[in-house]
Amino acid sequence: MESRQRNHGLRKRCSCPRKLWAKCQHAWHFNFRWRGKSYRLSLEKEADHPITNRDEARAEADRLRAAIRAGKYPVPVEPAPTAVTTFRQFADIWLAREGSRLASGAIDKYRLKLFNDFVLPGTNPPVMFGDKPVGGVALGDIEAWREARRKIGRSPVTINHDLKLLRKMFNWGIRKGYVERTPFKIGTEPAILLDRETPRNKRFEAEDLEQRLIDAAGPHLRAVIIAMLETACRPGEILSLPGGEGLGYRWRRLLSVCRSVRSPAA
Ligand SMILES: [Zn+2]
Repeated sequence: MESRQRNHGLRKRCSCPRKLWAKCQHAWHFNFRWRGKSYRLSLEKEADHPITNRDEARAEADRLRAAIRAGKYPVPVEPAPTAVTTFRQFADIWLAREGSRLASGAIDKYRLKLFNDFVLPGTNPPVMFGDKPVGGVALGDIEAWREARRKIGRSPVTINHDLKLLRKMFNWGIRKGYVERTPFKIGTEPAILLDRETPRNKRFEAEDLEQRLIDAAGPHLRAVIIAMLETACRPGEILSLPGGEGLGYRWRRLLSVCRSVRSPAA
């Protein structure tokens, strides 16, 4: 509690140490309790201007605190225009209202074009994702998209980015009154689970795991694995290393083994 007061209810959710909060680029959040109700707000979303430093964050927090105490928070949501019918129109509104404020706005726009132009399998005449009524986008449509992306070799990381974007948009749409439900949930349960991602920088947690990997490999693969563990190079980089002049015996041996791995017939 003391630390909250010291920070004026301001905090960050990034993994940076607290002492770096004044300098790091991550967003400020604001906690406040008033008359038994907790307010946990993102200052970025509440402010009508960018929050770039701690002073601006404090000023915005003061404004919010005053509004809450005066019973003027939240401001009533503006009524949603009734003209939104298709996913494409909804996506345009999201891009204009939210996407343009995000650092990922340009790439989101590209992703949404892919969604819009995706022809739903089995539809005749063909129906594009973007032409579906936004309220009618079904779990199955999203699964069809995911299948199609997998088939052309998109990685789980890329596919998850797409799904997270869509999920975020539908949640926003519910808050703003554009849609009544999200295909990502059945009741309160998540209906779509994200693909499993392979961590890019997974490390061995125990020394003996590394040894077990080395022991399990044949002599050629073993040399490559040792070189990779020692240098953190990718396999392609290891296999394309130059001659090895000036390198120690162990390295020259490794490289000669690597070369024979690359061209086993030689
Ligand atoms: Zn940070």
